[in-house]
Amino acid sequence: MKKIAILTSGGDAPGMNAAIRACVRYAIAKDVDVFGVERGWQGLLDNKISVMNSRSVSDIVHKGGTILKTARCPEFLKVEYQQKAADTLSAYGIDGLIVIGGDGTFRGAKDISDNCGINVCGIPGTIDNDLAYTDFTIGFDTAVNTVLDAMNNLRDTMGSHDRVSLLEVMGRKCGDIALYAALAGGAEFCITPEHPVDIEQMSKTLLKSRLRGKTSNMIVFAEGAGDREEICRQIKEKTGISVKTTTLGYVQRGGAPSMVDRVLAARMAVRAVDVLLEGKTNRVVGVNNNVINDFDISEALAMPREFDSELYKVMNILAR
Ligand code: ATP
Repeated sequence: MKKIAILTSGGDAPGMNAAIRACVRYAIAKDVDVFGVERGWQGLLDNKISVMNSRSVSDIVHKGGTILKTARCPEFLKVEYQQKAADTLSAYGIDGLIVIGGDGTFRGAKDISDNCGINVCGIPGTIDNDLAYTDFTIGFDTAVNTVLDAMNNLRDTMGSHDRVSLLEVMGRKCGDIALYAALAGGAEFCITPEHPVDIEQMSKTLLKSRLRGKTSNMIVFAEGAGDREEICRQIKEKTGISVKTTTLGYVQRGGAPSMVDRVLAARMAVRAVDVLLEGKTNRVVGVNNNVINDFDISEALAMPREFDSELYKVMNILAR
């Protein structure tokens, strides 16, 4: 393996730059030439490839987003476009590809490997933490810290007005951002896709906490957990309390990556380069009990995601 390329695809996540930097510098240290592909799979179709060196990745370890840019590329689901991308890589003599992204990006990597013989290794970069095979994805820790900052601000104003606040956070069908933020931020309630809300119970608890003198409450709501407005409407109907909603949105995807994400990015990047140098393909790297591992892509994507119900219970106990 003498030449590898790197791309970022799907949603950006804080720590992608730290991963790019680590891939580039570690590969160079192993005498491998490195190329950067702009805008994910689309960049391979558009021939947006350039040589990277140590200086290409200076001053990025602390920056959110991705210097390689990212994009969604619907054409890439078709074999003819995968072949076109593979032809671009072959034209540069590139024999290994590292992709940083989420499950969709990994499916693309598997396809270009299976259908066109490109050696691939994936690094999980997504704030959602929705990949079952790895305990954590790059960007998740930073996103939760961003939510915590927002919760602190909300508490100030909600407490002053004796209000109940619902903060909607990202995560698509995965409730991890909501769960970790609710636990770490001391929220009173957490609503996730994995644990549908019991309005009856929640309303009773809200009224009881008022009687105990607690006049301000925080509900962390995961975006995939149902109809937020309907939940607020029902709470109002049952308790007379109006819930003030805030949607945090894309601020969760940006910002300087945390120490945890930068270190995770470096460790995963090193393993990804090693995987390619060992001649393996169709692999993704992950972290399990703080050990970096690599897995077959199909097996990794087929693993059922398990929500941490124990942590959810702890969150609820500590919230009362
Ligand atoms: P995130 O979870 O942050 O959104 P992601 O990698 O899952 O990241 P997607 O938009 O699902 O984001 O996928 C990124 C790109 O990967 C798609 O735009 C498409 O080009 C490619 N892709 C997705 N699914 C497939 C598939 N089944 N086969 C081939 N390519 C795919």
